[in-house]
Amino acid sequence: MKAPPPDHHCPGCGTPRAFSQRYPWHFCDTCLARSSDGEGRLLGFGNVSLSGGLRWFYRDDPETDDEGSRSVLCLIDGRDIVVSEARFGGVVAEPVNSATLSALAADRAVADLRGGPAMLRARESLRKSGAAGTPGQSNRPSGS
Ligand SMILES: [Zn+2]
Repeated sequence: MKAPPPDHHCPGCGTPRAFSQRYPWHFCDTCLARSSDGEGRLLGFGNVSLSGGLRWFYRDDPETDDEGSRSVLCLIDGRDIVVSEARFGGVVAEPVNSATLSALAADRAVADLRGGPAMLRARESLRKSGAAGTPGQSNRPSGS
């Protein structure tokens, strides 16, 4: 018999987490709900549609969002984290180390909300979606 997979826990608060080979150190939902930008504004995340895609928004203005960034760099309790679309739907928040961090910060497809000019630039991608509660809105014909 194979040994059972090791227990994991949230890197933010230590609460037990289900084993995940792909995301061994993902934050729990309670910690993700504390994620903020460099000015302490709380952030929210979701999928663009049922088929995926990451969207992020400020929780004080949930109808204005950015659906074009691949990942978001932000903070939980002052620590650098990255939020991405999870492989099988939903979003996943993970700690970043310095090597990952510099690669992500240099990636233009990543919204860097940790502060400074990068944060101001990322905010320019926010658009009034007006799509709250109307899924299917993203059903555009794909021109080729
Ligand atoms: Zn936690």
